[in-house]
Amino acid sequence: MDEDKLHFHEMGLDDRLLKALADLGWSEPTLIQEKAIPLALEGKDLLARARTGSGKTAAYAIPLIQRILTSKQTVREQAVRALVLVPTKELGQQVQTMIRQLTAYCSRDVRAADISGKADISAQKPILMEKPDIVVSTPSRVQAHINAQNLQLQSSLEMLVIDEADLLFSFGFEADLKSLLCHLPKIYQAFLMSATLNDDVQALKELVLHNPVTLKLQGSQLPDSSQLQQYSVRCEEEDKFLLVYTLLKLGLIRGKSLIFVSDVDRCYRLKLFLEQFSIPACVLNSELPVHSRCHIITQFNQGFYNYIIATDEQGLENPTGQSQKAQEKGKKKKNAGKKGKDKEYGVSRGIDFHNVSNVINFDFPTSVESYIHRVGRTARADNSGTALSFISHTEISMLTEVENALTGDNTHDSVLKPYGFKMEEIEGFRYRCRDAMRSVTKQAVKEARLKEIKQELLNSEKLKMYFEDNPRDLQLLRHDKDLHPAVIKPHLKNVPDYLIPTTLKSLVNPLKRRKKKKNKTGGVMLSSFKKNFRGKNPLKSFRYTKKKREKKAGKS
Ligand code: AMP
Repeated sequence: MDEDKLHFHEMGLDDRLLKALADLGWSEPTLIQEKAIPLALEGKDLLARARTGSGKTAAYAIPLIQRILTSKQTVREQAVRALVLVPTKELGQQVQTMIRQLTAYCSRDVRAADISGKADISAQKPILMEKPDIVVSTPSRVQAHINAQNLQLQSSLEMLVIDEADLLFSFGFEADLKSLLCHLPKIYQAFLMSATLNDDVQALKELVLHNPVTLKLQGSQLPDSSQLQQYSVRCEEEDKFLLVYTLLKLGLIRGKSLIFVSDVDRCYRLKLFLEQFSIPACVLNSELPVHSRCHIITQFNQGFYNYIIATDEQGLENPTGQSQKAQEKGKKKKNAGKKGKDKEYGVSRGIDFHNVSNVINFDFPTSVESYIHRVGRTARADNSGTALSFISHTEISMLTEVENALTGDNTHDSVLKPYGFKMEEIEGFRYRCRDAMRSVTKQAVKEARLKEIKQELLNSEKLKMYFEDNPRDLQLLRHDKDLHPAVIKPHLKNVPDYLIPTTLKSLVNPLKRRKKKKNKTGGVMLSSFKKNFRGKNPLKSFRYTKKKREKKAGKS
């Protein structure tokens, strides 16, 4: 423990909160918690820029709960005292879970309700009639409830949190946000949390914060290379499939991984492709019903799946590259134009996937922000992680942009190190790769997409009703089942011995490997097999390899 650090028990927190923190196993506050909690408890407004995964949810949730506990010692009347605005339903659910954990010992005194995720306004009315102390929601949902007179904040609200404020703007919540601010009392304490402090956030700051303290805790928005290792590898379309297949099949990518692709079709294309080799993966995108999405994330966090193939919300928000105006016009025309896509879907931003060892950019993101948010899904809190980006010739310019943003223009040190993988070593796998790619036709992708949506809609209804009563049975439904619209060639499941690169032969047995116990460390294997793997366990991560190499160098 750091002696100079302010600890939770020195912050004047209620014993029940301290007990919950102990149960969570948090030995000390993160940097943002250490700075923000005392200021918030003094009653200050806060504008905090903290990188994703820094513990910012608890940084505002702890003072929220503490203040409610304190004020309940004098005023027992039940009222909505705090409003937490989030850009996505998934984030809403996550915030709610965090608040539940923190209020484990005072759940009677501090009740929280997440109303962001459920479709029917009238069904939520009874929840709001009970006046939960904390309401978590998207701005549009709060506005809808205010309009329906289900929610009244003018007289009771004491605290407002706007989480992922920059995203609220990019999701087009600006109008809802502004109109709901008119329904708040004149005086309240406000916290604005944002990954970036752009002009929109600055403008919002003027609107909601009074003499705020600004916390810019992290120069960089991603952890440094001792915690997060970032790599890129040049490969064109077919090679992307070849590389991901061999990395997964030979166990060179270890631990839970998020694989990002550019659009929903590619989600299914890659899923069906991997299915050919009996590599199960879930698909996560905005077309799936919200309950399924949340369920997939919950199960992933519980360790049910190793791989999620996801699109990020940027591609979904603006799949055609339309201008914001054009999009808004389209939006007004009716949501039908969005082919059922949900604008409050958010995978790469804000969502806390637990223990993600690797983020793989199968398709490179189309903005620096998106890169940061995607890669921020790994190396969270104190964990380490690896990000590996596949770069085709069309993606090089974006890679340069990301590099420049992460390093600043005047340094020659690139943040994304070249992933020195020798493609020629896996050349033998190419015909299998082509074989599998041929089976994944446009028609197969289309069918898979429809099939999964149908399946998930059914799941979703079941989920909604059933899991409300039986939360423990969540694990009953799996989302990584084979979809099978492509022709399955059983022989592709196995890797014959002659295909395994000679240098890996004594080390990798993909079939045996599956039966082995889960190893805790994750990561992506580096470089040519020969150089790095001889005499070493290929299931170890980059860092391990590097350390060993350094040691060796030191000896000679
Ligand atoms: P957040 O940035 O709020 O999404 O949090 C990222 C992750 O850090 C979550 O899984 C939290 O449970 C975890 N976390 C938050 N605060 C702490 C802490 N003080 N010690 C250890 N883990 C924490």
